[in-house]
Amino acid sequence: MTDMHSYDESTDELAWQIFRYALNRVRLDPPPLDGPRSAREIERAVGVTITPDGLGGTRALELFIEELAPSCISTDHQRYLSFVPTAPTEAAALFDVVVGASSLYGGSWLEGAGAVYAENEALRWLADLAGLPGSAGGVFVSGGTAGNLSALVAARHHARSGSDFIPRRWAVVASTSAHSSIAAAAAVMDIDVVQADLDDHRRLTGAAVSEALESVPPGVSVFAVVATAGSTNLGIIDDLETVSEVCATYGLWFHVDAAYGGAALAAPSACQRFVGIDRADSVVIDPHKWLFSPYDCAALLYLHPEIARQAHLQHADYLEPLENGEWNPSDYAHVLTRRARGLPLWFSLATHGTRAYTEAVEHTIGLARDIAAVIASDDRLDLIIEPELSVVAFRRRGWEDDEYREWSRWLLESGRAFVTPTTVDGEMAIRFCIVSPRTTLDGLRGILDTL
Ligand SMILES: *Cc1c(COP(=O)(O)O)cnc(C)c1O
Repeated sequence: MTDMHSYDESTDELAWQIFRYALNRVRLDPPPLDGPRSAREIERAVGVTITPDGLGGTRALELFIEELAPSCISTDHQRYLSFVPTAPTEAAALFDVVVGASSLYGGSWLEGAGAVYAENEALRWLADLAGLPGSAGGVFVSGGTAGNLSALVAARHHARSGSDFIPRRWAVVASTSAHSSIAAAAAVMDIDVVQADLDDHRRLTGAAVSEALESVPPGVSVFAVVATAGSTNLGIIDDLETVSEVCATYGLWFHVDAAYGGAALAAPSACQRFVGIDRADSVVIDPHKWLFSPYDCAALLYLHPEIARQAHLQHADYLEPLENGEWNPSDYAHVLTRRARGLPLWFSLATHGTRAYTEAVEHTIGLARDIAAVIASDDRLDLIIEPELSVVAFRRRGWEDDEYREWSRWLLESGRAFVTPTTVDGEMAIRFCIVSPRTTLDGLRGILDTL
Protein backbone atom coordinates (compact mmCIF):
# COMPACT_ATOMS: atom_id res chain seq x y z
CA MET A 1 0.00 0.00 0.00
CA THR A 2 1.24 3.49 -0.85
CA ASP A 3 1.80 5.30 2.39
CA MET A 4 -0.03 8.52 1.63
CA HIS A 5 -0.12 9.56 5.26
CA SER A 6 3.52 9.45 6.19
CA TYR A 7 5.87 12.42 6.11
CA ASP A 8 9.08 11.21 4.52
CA GLU A 9 11.83 12.80 2.48
CA SER A 10 9.81 13.02 -0.72
CA THR A 11 6.91 14.59 1.20
CA ASP A 12 9.32 17.15 2.55
CA GLU A 13 10.58 17.98 -0.91
CA LEU A 14 7.04 18.36 -2.19
CA ALA A 15 6.15 20.50 0.80
CA TRP A 16 8.84 23.03 -0.06
CA GLN A 17 7.81 23.05 -3.71
CA ILE A 18 4.26 23.82 -2.68
CA PHE A 19 5.25 26.47 -0.15
CA ARG A 20 7.60 28.13 -2.62
CA TYR A 21 4.82 28.41 -5.15
CA ALA A 22 2.28 29.62 -2.59
CA LEU A 23 4.69 32.21 -1.25
CA ASN A 24 5.50 33.47 -4.71
CA ARG A 25 1.84 33.73 -5.57
CA VAL A 26 1.24 35.81 -2.46
CA ARG A 27 4.40 37.89 -2.75
CA LEU A 28 4.50 38.75 -6.42
CA ASP A 29 1.97 40.77 -8.29
CA PRO A 30 -0.81 38.47 -9.37
CA PRO A 31 -0.13 36.63 -12.62
CA PRO A 32 -1.00 38.58 -15.77
CA LEU A 33 -4.56 38.73 -16.98
CA ASP A 34 -5.42 36.58 -19.93
CA GLY A 35 -8.59 35.53 -21.73
CA PRO A 36 -10.31 32.32 -20.67
CA ARG A 37 -9.26 29.08 -22.35
CA SER A 38 -11.76 26.62 -23.70
CA ALA A 39 -12.22 23.19 -22.12
CA ARG A 40 -10.66 21.67 -25.23
CA GLU A 41 -7.54 23.84 -24.99
CA ILE A 42 -7.05 22.97 -21.34
CA GLU A 43 -7.64 19.31 -22.04
CA ARG A 44 -5.06 19.38 -24.80
CA ALA A 45 -2.51 20.98 -22.50
CA VAL A 46 -3.22 18.98 -19.36
CA GLY A 47 -4.68 15.65 -20.45
CA VAL A 48 -5.86 13.05 -17.99
CA THR A 49 -4.66 13.71 -14.46
CA ILE A 50 -6.38 11.08 -12.38
CA THR A 51 -4.78 7.69 -12.99
CA PRO A 52 -4.55 4.41 -11.03
CA ASP A 53 -0.86 4.97 -10.22
CA GLY A 54 -0.87 8.74 -9.72
CA LEU A 55 1.34 11.33 -11.45
CA GLY A 56 3.47 12.09 -8.42
CA GLY A 57 3.27 15.36 -6.53
CA THR A 58 5.96 17.15 -8.51
CA ARG A 59 4.25 16.49 -11.83
CA ALA A 60 0.79 17.29 -10.50
CA LEU A 61 2.07 20.57 -9.07
CA GLU A 62 3.83 21.36 -12.33
CA LEU A 63 0.57 20.88 -14.24
CA PHE A 64 -1.19 23.17 -11.82
CA ILE A 65 1.48 25.89 -11.97
CA GLU A 66 2.03 25.77 -15.71
CA GLU A 67 -1.42 25.09 -17.09
CA LEU A 68 -4.25 25.16 -14.59
CA ALA A 69 -3.43 28.26 -12.55
CA PRO A 70 -2.75 30.39 -15.66
CA SER A 71 -6.16 29.28 -16.95
CA CYS A 72 -7.77 31.19 -14.07
CA ILE A 73 -8.15 34.95 -13.96
CA SER A 74 -6.40 36.47 -10.93
CA THR A 75 -9.35 37.94 -9.07
CA ASP A 76 -6.93 39.91 -6.88
CA HIS A 77 -5.28 41.61 -9.87
CA GLN A 78 -5.20 45.38 -9.40
CA ARG A 79 -7.00 45.89 -12.69
CA TYR A 80 -9.59 43.17 -12.17
CA LEU A 81 -12.58 45.49 -11.82
CA SER A 82 -15.45 43.23 -12.90
CA PHE A 83 -18.23 41.84 -10.71
CA VAL A 84 -16.79 42.21 -7.20
CA PRO A 85 -13.05 41.48 -7.06
CA THR A 86 -11.08 40.31 -4.04
CA ALA A 87 -7.89 41.61 -2.40
CA PRO A 88 -6.68 39.40 0.45
CA THR A 89 -3.94 40.83 2.64
CA GLU A 90 -0.69 38.89 2.65
CA ALA A 91 -1.37 37.91 6.26
CA ALA A 92 -4.87 36.63 5.47
CA ALA A 93 -3.79 34.69 2.37
CA LEU A 94 -0.84 33.09 4.15
CA PHE A 95 -2.87 32.16 7.20
CA ASP A 96 -5.34 30.36 4.97
CA VAL A 97 -2.56 27.82 4.44
CA VAL A 98 -2.53 27.22 8.20
CA VAL A 99 -6.29 26.82 8.31
CA GLY A 100 -6.09 24.22 5.56
CA ALA A 101 -3.21 22.37 7.20
CA SER A 102 -4.73 22.22 10.67
CA SER A 103 -7.89 20.15 10.17
CA LEU A 104 -9.80 22.63 12.30
CA TYR A 105 -13.45 21.79 12.73
CA GLY A 106 -15.30 25.07 12.85
CA GLY A 107 -18.77 23.70 13.48
CA SER A 108 -18.77 23.27 17.23
CA TRP A 109 -17.25 24.70 20.38
CA LEU A 110 -16.41 21.19 21.62
CA GLU A 111 -14.08 20.57 18.71
CA GLY A 112 -13.00 24.04 17.66
CA ALA A 113 -13.22 26.28 20.73
CA GLY A 114 -10.05 28.24 19.99
CA ALA A 115 -10.91 28.76 16.34
CA VAL A 116 -14.49 29.68 17.17
CA TYR A 117 -13.31 32.15 19.81
CA ALA A 118 -11.09 33.89 17.24
CA GLU A 119 -13.81 33.88 14.58
CA ASN A 120 -16.22 35.36 17.07
CA GLU A 121 -13.78 38.17 17.77
CA ALA A 122 -13.82 39.03 14.07
CA LEU A 123 -17.62 38.79 14.00
CA ARG A 124 -17.74 41.06 17.03
CA TRP A 125 -15.73 43.70 15.20
CA LEU A 126 -18.23 43.62 12.34
CA ALA A 127 -21.20 43.69 14.73
CA ASP A 128 -19.69 46.71 16.48
CA LEU A 129 -19.24 48.49 13.16
CA ALA A 130 -22.91 47.86 12.43
CA GLY A 131 -23.89 49.05 15.90
CA LEU A 132 -25.44 45.72 16.88
CA PRO A 133 -25.62 45.02 20.63
CA GLY A 134 -23.29 42.73 22.53
CA SER A 135 -25.85 39.93 22.38
CA ALA A 136 -25.65 39.81 18.57
CA GLY A 137 -23.70 36.99 16.96
CA GLY A 138 -23.51 34.63 14.06
CA VAL A 139 -21.26 32.59 11.86
CA PHE A 140 -19.00 32.83 8.83
CA VAL A 141 -20.60 31.07 5.87
CA SER A 142 -19.38 30.51 2.32
CA GLY A 143 -20.80 33.64 0.77
CA GLY A 144 -23.54 36.22 0.65
CA THR A 145 -25.77 33.72 -1.11
CA ALA A 146 -25.54 31.22 1.75
CA GLY A 147 -25.86 34.04 4.29
CA ASN A 148 -29.00 35.49 2.74
CA LEU A 149 -30.62 32.07 2.57
CA SER A 150 -29.79 31.19 6.17
CA ALA A 151 -31.01 34.58 7.42
CA LEU A 152 -34.32 34.28 5.58
CA VAL A 153 -34.80 30.69 6.78
CA ALA A 154 -34.35 31.96 10.35
CA ALA A 155 -36.78 34.81 9.70
CA ARG A 156 -39.47 32.51 8.35
CA HIS A 157 -38.98 30.04 11.16
CA HIS A 158 -39.53 32.90 13.57
CA ALA A 159 -42.70 34.02 11.78
CA ARG A 160 -44.04 30.47 11.67
CA SER A 161 -43.42 29.78 15.31
CA GLY A 162 -44.98 33.08 16.35
CA SER A 163 -48.51 32.24 15.23
CA ASP A 164 -50.83 29.38 14.36
CA PHE A 165 -51.94 31.12 11.20
CA ILE A 166 -50.80 29.29 8.09
CA PRO A 167 -50.75 31.56 5.04
CA ARG A 168 -51.25 30.31 1.51
CA ARG A 169 -47.81 31.71 0.63
CA TRP A 170 -44.93 33.25 2.58
CA ALA A 171 -43.16 36.23 1.05
CA VAL A 172 -40.40 38.79 1.50
CA VAL A 173 -40.30 42.35 0.24
CA ALA A 174 -37.19 43.28 -1.76
CA SER A 175 -36.34 45.93 -4.31
CA THR A 176 -35.45 45.52 -7.96
CA SER A 177 -31.82 46.16 -7.07
CA ALA A 178 -31.65 43.31 -4.54
CA HIS A 179 -28.97 40.75 -5.37
CA SER A 180 -29.96 37.73 -7.47
CA SER A 181 -29.30 35.50 -4.44
CA ILE A 182 -32.49 36.81 -2.82
CA ALA A 183 -34.56 35.39 -5.67
CA ALA A 184 -32.48 32.22 -5.47
CA ALA A 185 -33.17 31.92 -1.72
CA ALA A 186 -36.87 32.49 -2.37
CA ALA A 187 -36.86 29.70 -4.94
CA VAL A 188 -35.18 27.28 -2.52
CA MET A 189 -37.61 28.24 0.25
CA ASP A 190 -40.59 28.19 -2.13
CA ILE A 191 -41.65 31.68 -1.10
CA ASP A 192 -42.58 34.78 -3.10
CA VAL A 193 -40.68 38.03 -3.52
CA VAL A 194 -42.88 41.13 -3.47
CA GLN A 195 -41.07 43.81 -5.43
CA ALA A 196 -40.77 47.32 -4.05
CA ASP A 197 -39.89 50.29 -6.24
CA LEU A 198 -36.76 52.39 -5.93
CA ASP A 199 -36.91 56.14 -5.36
CA ASP A 200 -35.28 58.80 -7.56
CA HIS A 201 -31.94 58.04 -5.96
CA ARG A 202 -32.41 54.35 -6.82
CA ARG A 203 -32.85 53.45 -3.15
CA LEU A 204 -35.40 51.36 -1.39
CA THR A 205 -37.26 53.49 1.16
CA GLY A 206 -39.74 52.81 3.92
CA ALA A 207 -42.48 54.44 1.83
CA ALA A 208 -41.85 51.99 -1.01
CA VAL A 209 -41.94 49.07 1.41
CA SER A 210 -45.30 50.29 2.80
CA GLU A 211 -46.63 50.60 -0.71
CA ALA A 212 -45.42 47.10 -1.60
CA LEU A 213 -47.06 45.72 1.53
CA GLU A 214 -50.39 47.18 0.41
CA SER A 215 -50.13 45.34 -2.89
CA VAL A 216 -49.73 41.92 -1.26
CA PRO A 217 -52.54 39.62 -2.40
CA PRO A 218 -54.81 37.94 0.19
CA GLY A 219 -53.41 34.74 1.65
CA VAL A 220 -49.81 35.88 1.17
CA SER A 221 -47.95 36.70 4.35
CA VAL A 222 -44.83 38.86 4.29
CA PHE A 223 -42.38 37.94 7.05
CA ALA A 224 -39.25 39.92 6.12
CA VAL A 225 -37.92 42.90 4.22
CA VAL A 226 -34.56 42.74 2.47
CA ALA A 227 -32.64 45.99 2.13
CA THR A 228 -29.35 46.23 0.26
CA ALA A 229 -26.47 48.21 1.72
CA GLY A 230 -24.29 48.59 -1.33
CA SER A 231 -26.07 47.28 -4.39
CA THR A 232 -23.82 45.09 -6.48
CA ASN A 233 -24.38 46.94 -9.73
CA LEU A 234 -24.03 50.56 -8.54
CA GLY A 235 -23.00 50.44 -4.88
CA ILE A 236 -26.14 52.21 -3.69
CA ILE A 237 -27.21 51.96 -0.07
CA ASP A 238 -30.94 51.72 0.59
CA ASP A 239 -32.58 54.07 3.05
CA LEU A 240 -32.08 51.65 5.92
CA GLU A 241 -33.54 53.97 8.54
CA THR A 242 -37.01 54.37 7.03
CA VAL A 243 -37.09 50.71 5.99
CA SER A 244 -36.25 49.70 9.57
CA GLU A 245 -39.10 51.91 10.84
CA VAL A 246 -41.64 50.22 8.57
CA CYS A 247 -40.33 46.81 9.65
CA ALA A 248 -40.78 47.81 13.29
CA THR A 249 -44.32 49.08 12.62
CA TYR A 250 -45.43 45.85 10.95
CA GLY A 251 -43.35 43.47 13.05
CA LEU A 252 -41.32 42.30 10.06
CA TRP A 253 -37.82 40.84 10.12
CA PHE A 254 -35.34 43.41 8.78
CA HIS A 255 -32.54 41.78 6.79
CA VAL A 256 -29.68 43.90 5.47
CA ASP A 257 -27.68 42.44 2.62
CA ALA A 258 -24.37 44.28 2.90
CA ALA A 259 -22.35 41.53 1.22
CA TYR A 260 -20.37 43.99 -0.86
CA GLY A 261 -20.95 47.34 0.83
CA GLY A 262 -20.71 46.37 4.50
CA ALA A 263 -16.96 46.90 4.45
CA ALA A 264 -17.61 50.63 4.16
CA LEU A 265 -18.93 50.60 7.74
CA ALA A 266 -15.23 50.76 8.61
CA ALA A 267 -14.82 53.99 6.62
CA PRO A 268 -15.74 57.21 8.45
CA SER A 269 -16.53 58.95 5.14
CA ALA A 270 -19.20 56.38 4.28
CA CYS A 271 -20.49 54.87 7.50
CA GLN A 272 -23.16 57.51 8.14
CA ARG A 273 -24.95 56.28 5.01
CA PHE A 274 -25.72 53.07 6.87
CA VAL A 275 -27.84 54.70 9.56
CA GLY A 276 -30.52 52.19 10.52
CA ILE A 277 -28.37 49.08 10.06
CA ASP A 278 -28.14 48.86 13.85
CA ARG A 279 -31.84 47.95 13.84
CA ALA A 280 -31.37 44.95 11.53
CA ASP A 281 -32.45 41.49 12.63
CA SER A 282 -29.77 40.03 10.39
CA VAL A 283 -26.86 41.37 8.36
CA VAL A 284 -24.59 39.76 5.77
CA ILE A 285 -21.11 41.16 5.04
CA ASP A 286 -18.62 39.36 2.75
CA PRO A 287 -15.01 39.81 3.92
CA HIS A 288 -13.98 37.97 0.74
CA LYS A 289 -15.13 40.98 -1.22
CA TRP A 290 -13.91 44.23 0.31
CA LEU A 291 -12.43 43.21 3.66
CA PHE A 292 -9.31 41.60 2.31
CA SER A 293 -10.02 37.98 3.18
CA PRO A 294 -9.45 35.05 0.80
CA TYR A 295 -12.40 33.05 -0.54
CA ASP A 296 -14.66 32.00 0.87
CA CYS A 297 -15.82 34.12 3.76
CA ALA A 298 -19.12 35.81 4.52
CA ALA A 299 -20.19 37.04 7.93
CA LEU A 300 -23.79 36.35 8.90
CA LEU A 301 -24.89 38.26 11.99
CA TYR A 302 -28.14 38.08 13.93
CA LEU A 303 -29.57 40.54 16.40
CA HIS A 304 -31.09 37.58 18.30
CA PRO A 305 -28.91 34.54 17.59
CA GLU A 306 -31.22 32.32 19.64
CA ILE A 307 -33.92 32.70 16.99
CA ALA A 308 -31.48 31.54 14.32
CA ARG A 309 -30.43 28.63 16.52
CA GLN A 310 -34.03 27.47 16.81
CA ALA A 311 -34.24 27.49 13.02
CA HIS A 312 -30.94 25.85 12.15
CA LEU A 313 -29.98 23.49 14.97
CA GLN A 314 -29.67 19.95 13.63
CA HIS A 315 -30.89 17.14 15.85
CA ALA A 316 -29.35 13.68 15.93
CA ASP A 317 -28.55 11.21 18.68
CA TYR A 318 -24.83 11.39 17.97
CA LEU A 319 -24.85 15.23 17.96
CA GLU A 320 -26.24 15.44 21.47
CA PRO A 321 -22.77 15.86 23.13
CA LEU A 322 -22.41 19.14 21.22
CA GLU A 323 -25.40 20.67 23.00
CA ASN A 324 -23.46 21.84 26.01
CA GLY A 325 -24.57 25.44 26.17
CA GLU A 326 -21.52 26.65 24.27
CA TRP A 327 -21.44 28.56 20.98
CA ASN A 328 -21.71 26.17 18.04
CA PRO A 329 -21.34 28.10 14.78
CA SER A 330 -23.20 25.43 12.81
CA ASP A 331 -26.37 26.26 14.72
CA TYR A 332 -26.65 29.62 13.00
CA ALA A 333 -26.75 28.67 9.32
CA HIS A 334 -27.80 25.91 6.98
CA VAL A 335 -24.59 23.98 7.52
CA LEU A 336 -23.01 21.38 9.80
CA THR A 337 -19.37 20.70 9.01
CA ARG A 338 -17.62 23.95 8.33
CA ARG A 339 -14.15 25.27 7.64
CA ALA A 340 -13.06 27.90 10.17
CA ARG A 341 -13.13 30.32 7.27
CA GLY A 342 -13.20 33.40 9.46
CA LEU A 343 -9.67 32.73 10.70
CA PRO A 344 -7.73 34.38 7.86
CA LEU A 345 -9.73 37.56 8.51
CA TRP A 346 -9.14 37.23 12.23
CA PHE A 347 -5.40 36.72 11.76
CA SER A 348 -5.08 39.72 9.49
CA LEU A 349 -7.14 41.88 11.86
CA ALA A 350 -5.10 40.71 14.82
CA THR A 351 -1.88 41.38 12.89
CA HIS A 352 -2.65 44.80 11.44
CA GLY A 353 -5.33 46.19 13.71
CA THR A 354 -8.63 47.69 12.63
CA ARG A 355 -7.17 51.09 11.73
CA ALA A 356 -5.35 49.57 8.77
CA TYR A 357 -8.72 48.29 7.53
CA THR A 358 -10.30 51.69 7.88
CA GLU A 359 -7.47 53.27 5.90
CA ALA A 360 -7.54 50.63 3.16
CA VAL A 361 -11.30 50.89 2.64
CA GLU A 362 -11.14 54.70 2.73
CA HIS A 363 -8.38 54.60 0.15
CA THR A 364 -10.49 52.62 -2.34
CA ILE A 365 -13.51 54.88 -1.77
CA GLY A 366 -11.28 57.89 -2.46
CA LEU A 367 -9.95 56.25 -5.60
CA ALA A 368 -13.50 55.66 -6.86
CA ARG A 369 -14.31 59.32 -6.21
CA ASP A 370 -11.15 60.43 -8.04
CA ILE A 371 -11.69 58.35 -11.14
CA ALA A 372 -15.36 59.42 -11.18
CA ALA A 373 -14.15 63.03 -11.33
CA VAL A 374 -11.85 62.19 -14.23
CA ILE A 375 -14.74 60.51 -16.04
CA ALA A 376 -17.09 63.43 -15.37
CA SER A 377 -14.62 65.83 -16.97
CA ASP A 378 -14.06 63.69 -20.08
CA ASP A 379 -16.21 64.72 -23.07
CA ARG A 380 -16.29 61.18 -24.43
CA LEU A 381 -17.71 59.74 -21.23
CA ASP A 382 -20.91 60.02 -19.19
CA LEU A 383 -20.72 59.31 -15.48
CA ILE A 384 -24.02 57.65 -14.51
CA ILE A 385 -23.98 58.61 -10.82
CA GLU A 386 -21.52 59.90 -8.26
CA PRO A 387 -20.18 56.76 -6.58
CA GLU A 388 -21.54 56.17 -3.08
CA LEU A 389 -19.02 53.42 -2.41
CA SER A 390 -16.41 51.99 -4.77
CA VAL A 391 -18.47 51.20 -7.87
CA VAL A 392 -18.09 53.63 -10.75
CA ALA A 393 -20.52 53.27 -13.67
CA PHE A 394 -20.29 55.27 -16.87
CA ARG A 395 -20.90 55.18 -20.59
CA ARG A 396 -18.79 55.82 -23.65
CA ARG A 397 -20.78 58.26 -25.75
CA GLY A 398 -21.90 56.89 -29.07
CA TRP A 399 -21.12 53.26 -28.36
CA GLU A 400 -23.46 50.42 -29.24
CA ASP A 401 -23.76 47.32 -27.05
CA ASP A 402 -21.41 45.30 -29.23
CA GLU A 403 -18.68 47.91 -28.96
CA TYR A 404 -18.75 47.58 -25.17
CA ARG A 405 -18.57 43.79 -25.43
CA GLU A 406 -15.79 43.89 -28.01
CA TRP A 407 -13.74 46.37 -25.97
CA SER A 408 -14.15 44.31 -22.79
CA ARG A 409 -12.94 41.17 -24.55
CA TRP A 410 -9.97 42.98 -26.09
CA LEU A 411 -9.05 44.53 -22.77
CA LEU A 412 -8.78 41.10 -21.13
CA GLU A 413 -7.11 39.36 -24.03
CA SER A 414 -4.48 42.09 -24.23
CA GLY A 415 -3.78 41.61 -20.51
CA ARG A 416 -4.62 45.23 -19.69
CA ALA A 417 -7.59 44.84 -17.39
CA PHE A 418 -10.73 42.86 -16.70
CA VAL A 419 -13.78 45.12 -16.97
CA THR A 420 -17.11 43.61 -17.96
CA PRO A 421 -20.04 45.70 -19.14
CA THR A 422 -23.26 45.95 -17.16
CA THR A 423 -26.72 47.35 -17.81
CA VAL A 424 -28.10 50.44 -16.10
CA ASP A 425 -31.66 51.60 -16.86
CA GLY A 426 -31.80 49.17 -19.77
CA GLU A 427 -28.68 50.57 -21.41
CA MET A 428 -25.22 49.10 -21.49
CA ALA A 429 -22.53 50.73 -19.36
CA ILE A 430 -19.01 50.22 -18.11
CA ARG A 431 -18.58 49.40 -14.44
CA PHE A 432 -15.47 49.57 -12.30
CA CYS A 433 -15.72 47.85 -8.92
CA ILE A 434 -12.65 48.81 -6.89
CA VAL A 435 -11.75 46.87 -3.75
CA SER A 436 -7.99 46.54 -3.99
CA PRO A 437 -5.70 49.10 -2.36
CA ARG A 438 -3.20 48.09 -5.07
CA THR A 439 -5.39 49.65 -7.76
CA THR A 440 -4.01 53.02 -8.82
CA LEU A 441 -5.51 56.13 -10.38
CA ASP A 442 -2.95 55.89 -13.18
CA GLY A 443 -3.98 52.30 -13.83
CA LEU A 444 -7.61 53.38 -14.08
CA ARG A 445 -6.75 56.34 -16.33
CA GLY A 446 -4.87 53.94 -18.56
CA ILE A 447 -8.08 51.95 -19.01
CA LEU A 448 -10.04 55.11 -19.88
CA ASP A 449 -7.39 55.94 -22.50
CA THR A 450 -8.33 52.81 -24.42
CA LEU A 451 -11.96 53.91 -24.86
C1 LIG B 1 -21.93 39.43 -3.98
C2 LIG B 1 -23.24 39.68 -3.36
C3 LIG B 1 -24.04 38.63 -2.89
C4 LIG B 1 -23.64 37.19 -3.08
O1 LIG B 1 -22.50 36.90 -2.38
P1 LIG B 1 -21.63 35.59 -2.72
O2 LIG B 1 -20.54 35.70 -1.72
O3 LIG B 1 -21.18 35.76 -4.14
O4 LIG B 1 -22.50 34.41 -2.55
C5 LIG B 1 -25.21 38.94 -2.26
N1 LIG B 1 -25.60 40.22 -2.12
C6 LIG B 1 -24.88 41.26 -2.57
C7 LIG B 1 -25.39 42.65 -2.38
C8 LIG B 1 -23.67 41.02 -3.22
O5 LIG B 1 -22.96 42.06 -3.69
